[in-house]
Amino acid sequence: MKKLVSVVIPAFNEAENLTVIIDRLESVFSETAYNVEFIFIDDGSKDKTLAILKTIAAVKPNLFYIEFSRNFGHQLALKAGLDKAAGDCVISLDADLQHPPELIIQMLEKWEEGNDVVYTRRKEDKNLPYGKRKSSMLFYKLLNVLSSIHIEDGTADFRLMDKKVIEVFRNFEENEPFIRGLIQWMGYKQIAIDYIPSKRYAGSSKYNVRKMMRFALQGVTSFSIKPLYTAVYLGFSFSMLSILYIPYVFYSVYMGIEVDGWASTIMTIVFFGGLQLIIMGIIGIYIGKMFMQTKNRPNYIIKSTNLVQPL
Ligand code: UDP
Ligand code: MG
Repeated sequence: MKKLVSVVIPAFNEAENLTVIIDRLESVFSETAYNVEFIFIDDGSKDKTLAILKTIAAVKPNLFYIEFSRNFGHQLALKAGLDKAAGDCVISLDADLQHPPELIIQMLEKWEEGNDVVYTRRKEDKNLPYGKRKSSMLFYKLLNVLSSIHIEDGTADFRLMDKKVIEVFRNFEENEPFIRGLIQWMGYKQIAIDYIPSKRYAGSSKYNVRKMMRFALQGVTSFSIKPLYTAVYLGFSFSMLSILYIPYVFYSVYMGIEVDGWASTIMTIVFFGGLQLIIMGIIGIYIGKMFMQTKNRPNYIIKSTNLVQPL
């Protein structure tokens, strides 16, 4: 019997990209001996994304859509797709054609060789805006320093996962899943392949600086409590420093040295004020995460779907 491959694609306002990506994917799969199902997650799009998906689904029995009740974000859209995919392996990629569908052939080969996860690394990304490249590099550096997992630079959510990995992943009940980190953390037999990203086909990036910052903070804080330790070490270091400073204060009072340290006083106050706020913020993020998690709300809400399995 032919194996089934599920292709999961989160789409948020991607109307102009849909037919193109489906065409490209179909021509890729026509060269292989697999059955394929496409699962698109409409993440609360405001454009014609859903309408187009419905029209295509009416003529293609292997195309499914999941309509979210609102925009839940890329990671949760992806999660919904992984939750519902029925394939022997699942491939996830973006709808904007930045992840070249042609790479899937290689991914499938690696899978057949016995790898459980085939992830991809973005190379020579001249096609990406400068700011994006730099911020992405900084993000991975920071993540690797601040957490116990190691994610290679340029790893995005373009990967193949075997069914057994997906089945374990489905049982995770994290409130803000940082999927690329979780998959890396899970282990199994993982292998990387490199690719050169293309330009976004149509439309514009859905990630702005604010969203990227949030994503980065989420990534770090869902994988480690190292920032909390860093805060403690910083606190210790500065206490030590100030203890060393006390003898000097006594000495200057004793010697009658004049006090004129207005500038240094203000600087100290401002510096420590800032530091304390940052540290409180860090602690706050963790508490916030616990708060969100204890509410145990579902990750996402499906408004409609043409998938046959129960929701
Ligand atoms: N996306 C989504 N929900 C969002 C933002 C993005 O489903 O809230 C999808 C988007 O349609 C695309 C993928 O996630 O398929 C990656 O988004 P984008 O291309 O905007 O990110 P970038 O490539 O700029 O990092
Ligand atoms: Mg993109």
